[in-house]
Amino acid sequence: MKTFLTNCTVVDCTGNPPQSNMSIVVENDRITELLNGVTMSEAKVAERVLDLEGGYVLPGLWNVHVHLGDLIPDPQLLLETESPIDYAIRAGRNAMDGLRAGITGLRIVGEDHYADFAWKRAFDAGVFVGPRIFACGRAMSITGGHGHGTLGALEVDGPFEIRKAVREQLKYGADQIKLMVTGGVMTEGESMKESQFLMDEILAATEVAHQKGKRVCVHAWGAEGVKTAIRGGVDTVEHGLLDDEAVELMVQNGVYYVPTLNSTQDTEKILKGRLPDFMVEKALGAAEAHLKGFQKALKMGVRIACGADASPVTDHTLLEIEHLNKAGMTEMEALVAATRTSADLCGVADRLGTVEVGKLADLIVLSANPLQNISNIRKLKMVLKGGSLVDINPQEGQADYRKFFF
Ligand SMILES: [Zn+2]
Repeated sequence: MKTFLTNCTVVDCTGNPPQSNMSIVVENDRITELLNGVTMSEAKVAERVLDLEGGYVLPGLWNVHVHLGDLIPDPQLLLETESPIDYAIRAGRNAMDGLRAGITGLRIVGEDHYADFAWKRAFDAGVFVGPRIFACGRAMSITGGHGHGTLGALEVDGPFEIRKAVREQLKYGADQIKLMVTGGVMTEGESMKESQFLMDEILAATEVAHQKGKRVCVHAWGAEGVKTAIRGGVDTVEHGLLDDEAVELMVQNGVYYVPTLNSTQDTEKILKGRLPDFMVEKALGAAEAHLKGFQKALKMGVRIACGADASPVTDHTLLEIEHLNKAGMTEMEALVAATRTSADLCGVADRLGTVEVGKLADLIVLSANPLQNISNIRKLKMVLKGGSLVDINPQEGQADYRKFFF
């Protein structure tokens, strides 16, 4: 199949300025040509010509901090009552809705019942049309640590248990390994700043994962925990209340940062989210330090990617991109974070994350310029995954995810 996309402006997300009056040739699943000022007559050799009517073409968007089955709040107490099959169905719907909103890449950082691996296989095989998935399987916490008792997190202590648990995730097909190394917002009775996994435990995880060529990502709020994790060899840090030393260590070690800004910066969502009081207090109490650390990391050139943490994936991915912009990134920087840098964090920047010849054709088309107003990422006209058109229209008869589960 040869597809000719014409009459568009390309925002390639390499960091280069946009190019107007462009055409893109897609053969099967890849971009094979980027042409300037091409007339429709030259498109006649293609089997399919899509006139984009002056739209803006970008790489598909990414969210690299996802829990497909998470529900916060969970008014129907589904997480406590539903079967693994119900859980898996809900998780898949969340992912597929994401693709229909232009989110073509997801890294899933802790999921129950190995639902992430199942959906990855289903999407890769084309059983269902969904985003590309990079999965961690079950996250690991210390006994009684952050996230214990939720989303299938494994409670493991000491290097021996950690090695066993990491190898188990690798056996099931994990692309990365996820550790909870400090307290967090969602677990009661712990401070966000408290460190949890110890150095020898983190070292055990990174040694085993790296031996297999896989990266380790860590939930880490407190700066001490962030620093222990980086010294223990981890590759990506999530959340982070970063102090100067933590940022310096990230730069020196080439560690990626996924700030999940909306979890403390979106005051409206936090206050209206029907969350327990302890969560609201922790989230808002961390807001200032979180923002300051992010801005320091941005200034110092840390590689920052887009991860939203909360569900539904659709709403929160777009919200997080807006927060990256609001917190200090230019529109272009926020878009690069949500495309190229996120693909790079997943180890696939050679084939995904930008609009370039030779890359897989995961593309979105917007009707307005996102460089003028970042919220134009919501004005979606078209999505392609691997050169195939995705149906983005609401499906007749399908229930609204938010109404159904929240
Ligand atoms: Zn998370």
